Parts: sequence; C-alpha cells; structure tokens
Amino acid sequence: MMGATTLLVENDWEHHARCRTEDPGLFFGPTGFESKHDRQARERAAKAVCATCPAMAACRDYALATGEAYGVWGGLGETDRRSVLAQGGGRQMTARAG
Ligand code: SF4
Repeated sequence: MMGATTLLVENDWEHHARCRTEDPGLFFGPTGFESKHDRQARERAAKAVCATCPAMAACRDYALATGEAYGVWGGLGETDRRSVLAQGGGRQMTARAG
C-alpha cells in the first residue's frame, strides 16, 4: 500500500523541476482558443525548458503512467503522449531517451 511517505519520495523529482520557475502558461495552453501556430511555438519553448530539466525522465514516466491529458510533460506534448501510448510505449521510450 502506498502511504504519504512513499508518495513524497516517488514525486521527489518535482523538487528538481526546471519549470518551477517558469510561467505555467508555457506548459499549458489557454482555456480559450489557441492557434496551431501559437500552440506549436509555445510547446517548442516548453520542450526547450524540459530538455534542460534533470527531472525529465521521471516527469515523462509520471505523465504517461497517469494519463495526463493536458500540457507539456517530460518534453512531450499532448499529441506526443497520445502517440507514445497508442504505440504501447511509456517506459520503453524513456529508456531509449535517457
Ligand atoms: S521535464 Fe519539463 S514539465 Fe517536467 S518537470 Fe521538467 S521542466 Fe517541468
């Protein structure tokens, strides 16, 4: 059984997250309309932050394991994650990406 201590340890990567000091709006689109061009630019910028993040692999694993539907996590956007999951990926991709 997973207790609070286990949960804190498992989510320890969040303390190392590069995005902690970034605008959340970079990782999550607006609630209203966002053009394809704007979304692509925003996701590129968010993924550039992820690329420098020491928690990237753990963050990606978490997002894939929990089925996070929105935002950029671990260098993957919403479409990226759906694609990975549709291919039966998850841990396998993280292992390849390091
Ligand atoms: S990989 Fe990206 S979304 Fe995940 S913690 Fe790091 S900066 Fe944040």
